[in-house]
Order: sequence, then structure tokens, then C-alpha cells
Amino acid sequence: QGLEKTRKGFVTDLLEKFGDDPLTPEVLDDLEALLLRADVGVNATDQIITALRRRLNEEVLDSKEGFRFLKQQLCQIVNKPIKNSNQEVLAPKHKSLNIWLLVGVNGVGKTTTLGKLAHLALRSGYTALIAAADTFRAAAVQQVQIWGRRSGVSVIANETPNADPAAIVFDAIGAAKSKEIELLLVDTAGRLQTKNNLMEELAKIRRIIDRLAPEAIVESLLVLDASQGQNGLNQAMSFAESANLTGVVITKLDGSSRGGVAFAVASEAKLPIRFIGAGERLQDLKPFNSFEFVEALLA
Ligand code: GDP
Repeated sequence: QGLEKTRKGFVTDLLEKFGDDPLTPEVLDDLEALLLRADVGVNATDQIITALRRRLNEEVLDSKEGFRFLKQQLCQIVNKPIKNSNQEVLAPKHKSLNIWLLVGVNGVGKTTTLGKLAHLALRSGYTALIAAADTFRAAAVQQVQIWGRRSGVSVIANETPNADPAAIVFDAIGAAKSKEIELLLVDTAGRLQTKNNLMEELAKIRRIIDRLAPEAIVESLLVLDASQGQNGLNQAMSFAESANLTGVVITKLDGSSRGGVAFAVASEAKLPIRFIGAGERLQDLKPFNSFEFVEALLA
């Protein structure tokens, strides 16, 4: 019931308490605690509290204005990496080979996200193909095939246990080129216990791509489970070092968690959030919109 408390009482209750009265510095301490508890992270929380404190020093703010200012700050934090990327919304380039690698720890919703992205790509008029390069878990390849059937996108796979993931990517690039595929989605292994091998495996996949398809537009998207909080930030930092991440997908936003980790990821790992997943169905994925996200977080 701890989570429910954070959820319902998040910020709104705190500021409503003040009504039309001017905000006092004490509110900042409470707000700081709330933001930290909501996984917004130390950096982003500091930034918000400092900005708000500066404003309160200069002028009188009531809770409504304080709330508006808080929303602005939150939007700015998640928008910064998006602006730096020069791509407001991530979309494959038509008539080009785009390769999107999905990376992340097992269980976060990587395979589900892959299926959803395949569906979204077809609906948006792209040709797509899936490479089942998570060969470490036998079940993973079957899962990917199920999502391939659901979304209507072909899957390149090798059912042999522990087949070489780079070899599958090799085959998939060949198939993508001969079929003029625009978006190749690659599922990668997510075992954390052998992190070094995993990073080597990802690097090997990158080398295959560089060699076979140097012209491809490559995205490396980290899939994060919203409910993992601070742990999600740690995952982002450790993958960011060696996996050349270009963006993040946050999943399970339909659950009890609201995704405060998005702000931590944006301010500390400096990665743009690209998509959000809120459900287990094919259509439960949408492009990230900072304004909507902040509204939902604070509602
Ligand atoms: P992977 O191990 O990272 O490939 O994770 P899966 O894609 O197999 O997903 C793990 C579990 O999380 C499955 O039961 C999915 O149905 C579930 N899941 C994935 N995305 C979401 C989401 O956005 N919301 C909810 N509620 N469940 C999700």
C-alpha cells in the first residue's frame, strides 16, 4: 500500500494543502522527499528544487503557479536529451535500412516491446523484419516467433540452443537487404549475471552491422521496467557505457508505478525516452510525449 500512497498523494496533495496561500520554503523539503520517493533521482530532484527555491526567493508563488513551474521543470528535464538528439520523435527513415537493437535485462518487457514496435511499424507503412538474436534462452526465440505472428512480421531465427547471435543478425541483414526492409528489429540477450559476455555479444552484433550494413541507421534502445525504480537507472548507466545506447523505452506504465525513473534516466544517463509501454497487448505502445507524461505523472 506504500506505492498507492505515493501514487495518489504524489505532489498534488502537497500543493493543494497550500490552496491560494503563498508557498513557503518548507514545502520544498516535502517536495524533495516526494520526488525522490517517486524515483525522479537525485540529479533531477536537485535541479527542480534549486530552480523552485530560486524563484521563491524572487517572488511569491501560490500552489497553482508552483505546480505549473514544477511541470515545466519536469518537461525540460526529459526534453533535453530529445532536443540534443535532433529528432523530436523517433521514426525509421523510409526507403533506408534502419536497424533497431533492443537491449535490456530479462523480464523488463523487451520481447513484448519488440512485437509492439513491429506492429507499429507495419501500421505506419514500413516494411519490417525481426531478428531473434536472444539465443541464450530457448523460450525467448519462441516468444519472438509468437510476437512475429501476432504482428504479421517475419522472424529470422535459429532454433539451435546458443546459436551465435551475430550469425543471426548476419542472416537477418542479408534478408533485409534482399527484401528491401526498412526496419530490422533485433532482440538481444538480457542475462545480467554474465554482463561482460553480454556486452561482448552486443559489440559483436555492432561489428557485423558496421561491416555488412555501414549505411544502416542504427538505434540501440534500452528497455526499462518502470517499476524497477532506481535499479532501472543503474541498468541504464551500465548499458550506456558499453552498448552505445541511443534511447530508452519505458514499459509497464499501466502498473502501480508512474515512471519517475524517466527523469532520472534523462538527467543522469542523458538518454531520450522514445516510447512508453502501458499494457500487454500489441497496441499498448506509443511514442513518448513529455507533456502527456508529466500530466499523467502528476494527475
Ligand atoms: P523480456 O524478458 O524482457 O523479453 O520480457 P517479456 O517481453 O517477456 O515480458 C515480461 C512480462 O512483462 C510479460 O508477462 C509481459 O506480458 C509483461 N509486460 C511487458 N510489457 C508490459 C507492459 O507495458 N505492461 C504490463 N502490464 N506488462 C508488460
